[in-house]
Amino acid sequence: MTRYRLRDEPGVAVELLNLGLACCSLEVEAAVGSGALASEVGTERSPDSTVLLVSGTVTHALAPAVLRAWERAAEQGPVRVLAFGACATSGGPYWDAPSVVPGVDALIPVSRYVPGCPPGPDSLIAALRREVA
Ligand code: SF4
Repeated sequence: MTRYRLRDEPGVAVELLNLGLACCSLEVEAAVGSGALASEVGTERSPDSTVLLVSGTVTHALAPAVLRAWERAAEQGPVRVLAFGACATSGGPYWDAPSVVPGVDALIPVSRYVPGCPPGPDSLIAALRREVA
């Protein structure tokens, strides 16, 4: 779990647990690299929002780990879940593969879906901004 500030919303701290399961997670790194998401490592400040970001393909083999991550995050307080990209939303190009969960909402409640294969960093920032609004 890493705490970030949104560049355009400096007063808001987002605790972000990034489950980077496949290629979509590179877009998250791009958002950090661009400075749109700034890490707040070492600050004592409490987060304003906690977001579990599922970015990538959820396989049945990974499903227990995804569920555990959500349960652990939820133990600390309210947690919002972003399904980032087509795979996390619906299984994406692998929707009919027997090894793939056709959307992470089969496992945990999702508060926002971000379309795209992959969605760009701007889509991530826009979704986070809506979550913390
Ligand atoms: S939605 Fe596309 S880019 Fe994202 S993890 Fe799936 S295949 Fe990769």
